[in-house]
Amino acid sequence: MTGRADAPRAEKARSPEGALDARRADAEARLSRIEREMAVLRADRAGESADDEHDPEGDTLAAEWSRLEGLRTAVRAELTDIDGALVRVRAGTYGACADCGRAIPAARLEVRPTATRCVSCASRAGL
Ligand SMILES: [Zn+2]
Repeated sequence: MTGRADAPRAEKARSPEGALDARRADAEARLSRIEREMAVLRADRAGESADDEHDPEGDTLAAEWSRLEGLRTAVRAELTDIDGALVRVRAGTYGACADCGRAIPAARLEVRPTATRCVSCASRAGL
């Protein structure tokens, strides 16, 4: 513990925890909306396959299903990133680049609160 903040203007920025909590709530809401849509679709599909295998709607439903699955995977990954960032906030390591250890600029964290690397390390890592 040095007792010195890495970002001198940290107090000006919104608290990272608040921003992360807001993102988390938003992602959770999207996830439950997606899961609701998937439940409806699953019920639809169960009804369809009982009738006719060659129903042209079957393809549409399958495409919609994989679209929703893709969205769900993305939102879950987002939640994992957010939780990781919250862990770093509590551990006091939030905002430090995972590679070079320098402070990630506040502007970058504002856009990407879950960023784990500074811009130059991120581009070097190909992210
Ligand atoms: Zn870095």
